[in-house]
Amino acid sequence: MSLTAKSANPEEIAALREMVRDFGKNEIRPRVRDMEATGEFPRDIYRKLGELGAFGCIAPESLGGTGAGYEALAAVAEELAWAYPPISACMNMQAATVPLTIANWGRPDLVEKFVPGLIEGRLLGYSALTEPDGGTDVLGAMRTRAVRDGDDYVLNGAKMWITNANVADVGIVYCKTDPAARHKGVSAFVVETNTPGFAAKQVKCRVLGNLMPTNELAFKDMRVPAANMLGAEGEGFTVAMTAMDFGRLVVAARSLGLAQACLDASLEYCNVRTAFGQKIGSFQMIKQQLSNMVCEVAAARALVTNAARMFDAGNIATRESSIAKYYAAEVCVRAANAASEIFGGYSFSDELPIAIYVSYARLWHTGEGSANLQRVLIADDALGWKRMDRHKDAVAKVVARKA
Ligand SMILES: Cc1cc2nc3c(=O)[nH]c(=O)nc-3n(C[C@H](O)[C@H](O)[C@H](O)COP(=O)(O)OP(=O)(O)OC[C@H]3O[C@@H](n4cnc5c(N)ncnc54)[C@H](O)[C@@H]3O)c2cc1C
Repeated sequence: MSLTAKSANPEEIAALREMVRDFGKNEIRPRVRDMEATGEFPRDIYRKLGELGAFGCIAPESLGGTGAGYEALAAVAEELAWAYPPISACMNMQAATVPLTIANWGRPDLVEKFVPGLIEGRLLGYSALTEPDGGTDVLGAMRTRAVRDGDDYVLNGAKMWITNANVADVGIVYCKTDPAARHKGVSAFVVETNTPGFAAKQVKCRVLGNLMPTNELAFKDMRVPAANMLGAEGEGFTVAMTAMDFGRLVVAARSLGLAQACLDASLEYCNVRTAFGQKIGSFQMIKQQLSNMVCEVAAARALVTNAARMFDAGNIATRESSIAKYYAAEVCVRAANAASEIFGGYSFSDELPIAIYVSYARLWHTGEGSANLQRVLIADDALGWKRMDRHKDAVAKVVARKA
């Protein structure tokens, strides 16, 4: 399902990319060290990006969006990750998985109440799927329970690693309404963080810096109106799978942007750092690392663009976004490792972003479906054993019901 009203032409996408690149150069990179030192959440950056229309690419004008499309969305995600990876976390929460999922599956009053605020950066979003017992085996690990009581559901349970939840206003919680029913026993709810019974506690992750807080959540007898359910009872797994489709495109684009940042930093360093009387870029082994990065970044860009254009053409590009996510994350890890090697001892300095680059490359390799999970999905699909986009049929039914 897509909210895309129209797609921008190549010149418009290039102009948007340039605007976000300038924003990153002028308003993010110069502030990174101060922001990391104070640890204050960069809410003003989220707000400014919202005002610039950076979060509205796949939302129509009626909801405050620009309808520029998925290729534009990917370009924004890539440029923000290039500027500074933690800041680009906003793209799924503000521009894709949270607002688009509410818009696709929510009742009209929920859509009106939350979607414009999220894409304008006035409201901050979160998405809570992973639990302490696991993120890959989502169904097996899900213990959070919702029980119907009158006009409400009562939620009890815990979530793990939920990005921005301690600073957010509203998000999506996935839980079991029928524990015996596997994927048909999951339901999704829109939950405001000021709901009594909602608690977020930040998990300390020194290697990720201070600008992308991640949290443990606890729900204790938390009453959520039944009207806040996304889709029908038991449709939550399909809701989550459709969110992953474009969520993976966003992570792929962020991995691409970070790989490009590793390449750019390495090229600059290789032109100034000398050893044995020569620029280090003149050593053959370093040239091999640089040339690998150049080629792999170009290949990752082609896969990200392909997936984005599939969405823009009205397809549910599950397969293409998974392939793009898997490959771009692999490229990103290799580029970050190469950059770390090229920068030598300086890669560990807080004066430079290389150590953060390595951490975020590893994070995106795992998040939104680990690399192993993508390998399983891609291979099973190629073998003809399990179609990757099999939730397409369930989505078609929901689209028909909404129409
Ligand atoms: C900083 C951070 C932010 C995050 N933000 C969010 C968020 O906002 N919302 C959210 O819901 N989640 C979030 N996550 C969770 C993230 O999506 C999970 O960490 C990820 O899905 C992996 O789950 P896991 O950590 O439980 O690993 P596990 O599922 O325990 O997997 C451990 C290892 O086993 C492998 N493995 C598991 N099953 C198989 C299999 N069948 N075949 C082969 N290998 C397998 C995995 O690939 C992995 O290498 C975040 C995580 C971090 C660290």
